[in-house]
Amino acid sequence: MSIQTVEVKAKVPSPSTNFWQTYRQSKLGIAGLVLLLVITVIAIFAPVLSPYDPKSSAGVGAGQVYNPPSAAHWLGTDDAGRDVFSNFMYGARVSLLVGFFASFISVGIGGTIGIVAGYYGGRVENILMRFTDTMLVIPDLPLIVVIVALTKPSLLNIIFVIGIFGWTTTARMVRSQTLAVKSRKFVLRARAIGAGRRHIIRHHILPLVMPILVVQAVLVVSVAVLNESTLSFLGLGDPTALSWGQMLNYAFARGAMSTGAWWALVAPGIGIIWVVLGLTLVGQGLEHVLNPRLDTHHLMPGRPVVVNHEASGESENPTEKNPLLEVRNLSINYINEGKPPARAVENISFTLKEGELIGLVGESGCGKTTLMLALLRLLPSAGQIVNGQVIFSGKDLTALNEQEINAVRWKDISIVFQGAMNALNPVRTVGDQIAEAIIKHMPGFPRDQRLQERVIELLDLVGIAADHKEHYPHQYSGGMRQRAMIAMALACNPQIIIADEPTTALDVMIQAQILELLDSLRKKLGLAIIFVTHDLGVVAEICDKVLVMYGGVTAEYADVDIIYNESRHPYTQELLKAFPDLTKPKKKLSSIPGYPPRLDALPIGCRFAPRCRLAFARCHTEQPLLQKLNDSQSAVHIASCHLLEVSK
Ligand code: SF4
Repeated sequence: MSIQTVEVKAKVPSPSTNFWQTYRQSKLGIAGLVLLLVITVIAIFAPVLSPYDPKSSAGVGAGQVYNPPSAAHWLGTDDAGRDVFSNFMYGARVSLLVGFFASFISVGIGGTIGIVAGYYGGRVENILMRFTDTMLVIPDLPLIVVIVALTKPSLLNIIFVIGIFGWTTTARMVRSQTLAVKSRKFVLRARAIGAGRRHIIRHHILPLVMPILVVQAVLVVSVAVLNESTLSFLGLGDPTALSWGQMLNYAFARGAMSTGAWWALVAPGIGIIWVVLGLTLVGQGLEHVLNPRLDTHHLMPGRPVVVNHEASGESENPTEKNPLLEVRNLSINYINEGKPPARAVENISFTLKEGELIGLVGESGCGKTTLMLALLRLLPSAGQIVNGQVIFSGKDLTALNEQEINAVRWKDISIVFQGAMNALNPVRTVGDQIAEAIIKHMPGFPRDQRLQERVIELLDLVGIAADHKEHYPHQYSGGMRQRAMIAMALACNPQIIIADEPTTALDVMIQAQILELLDSLRKKLGLAIIFVTHDLGVVAEICDKVLVMYGGVTAEYADVDIIYNESRHPYTQELLKAFPDLTKPKKKLSSIPGYPPRLDALPIGCRFAPRCRLAFARCHTEQPLLQKLNDSQSAVHIASCHLLEVSK
């Protein structure tokens, strides 16, 4: 098989080059950086740069006290005759030191609480966020003042106290970001490949939460500098460390105001404003670069509770000998707080043989994606399998515990998620994400050159050149991202691949390439594929069997030829009328009037009745059962329509 991409190879800038190129677009960010760099250099090299030693007023006579600015003392002298400019330089060291260390503690606490609350959710989140809310309403500065006043006013105490009271905003922001990242498909994918919570937090959540942590760290430094200055100004600073706050305190307490020595107050004031302004501007620049626009997805992995494994209903179930996968009467509800559950999928059955490709067709909202996620037990937390079985290799997947289902995910059954851009982690290279799947499911796989070779082999299999391995998802085209998702799904040699609308949002040419790729992989690797789509044209091209779903139930199920040439269900027939056929250029296309039913407000009778041209009285009161039709050579042909009972 030879599948060639037509992507143009471009020189890819390194992440640091990218970072700088974006950062420098922010003029405010550049101004802030310059301000901070200057004050940091002054603080670091204060012993070298300062003209006088601030600890010593040796040689200063009585006439030197509160001397105005002059050539000898650019910013004048203080109450002890010490050079204010030198004090300013040394003061920068103390103020910045307190700011940076307090910020480190604060962001560490806030970041940890935010990530744990956001990722674990439930009771853990409730407890942590109620605690955060409580801390948030307590005014932190008065509390810091009281605590520092009650303890020894050392620099270490001040850093620690400021640090442990400045984390609440960080915790709330990080929690929100974690919730958003957690619901993205690449986290769902990581979970599907068996990654544990710690791995997901470290490799998928943290990199995307990091921008917020960095911006918060910068902003918290300025709050900490202000708090330290306030404490020192109130006389609660470390008397052995000369900070800008201490300079203000000494000037106020020792008559600078009454003697008109404004310079003793202005110099530390400018220092504080300088740092706060510089940090705020740098924060803006960083936000411009680091805060990626994160698309969210409504799916959040949860654990379905299997209520009943007994098959139910009178339906005619498709049965075939020795299927690879057998779905029996599967029903899935979404729990609705205080309302009746939404019956997203009801009594669905189908089988899949080795090397077979089944198409799952229906309009949006008919339960296709829910059904697919349920097969791998990746339903949102509100989703519950309430009935039925999913039999694979003699095991009922709905009855497995989390560890057992993890062993099946990706190794036996893998999934190509809808929307490749969302399903790939934007801050990790594609090669790295493919390798992750291999490492998670093949712990013994050597992590050296062999792993890289395997990644290249997989990329080659889907027609992506090896030198794209180190590229990030945004450097791929839409088609390449979809190919990368397929490579990822193949990483552990699964027997079944679930392809959830893999061609949606791609142009016609790329769609055709992806379909050709899936079909050739199926033939080459003997894969069985469940292909979810709303496009009957796609189904006609590559599928063996088709399951048409409407309102969460089976409308019709048969071989692809039967569906196209002898469909019996009015919904399938309407779908076919809306599908352009190149062999019949004069065919008139029509659309189905109305919309699919809301799953939490389903009609009493046939779910298609409000839109069905053939509906009669019974259709509005009684739900049709699945009928096995004996009108063709197909191994199975079933449909649910009252009209078929009469004509059977
Ligand atoms: Fe239409 Fe009635 Fe058949 Fe439903 S049962 S598809 S409403 S004819």
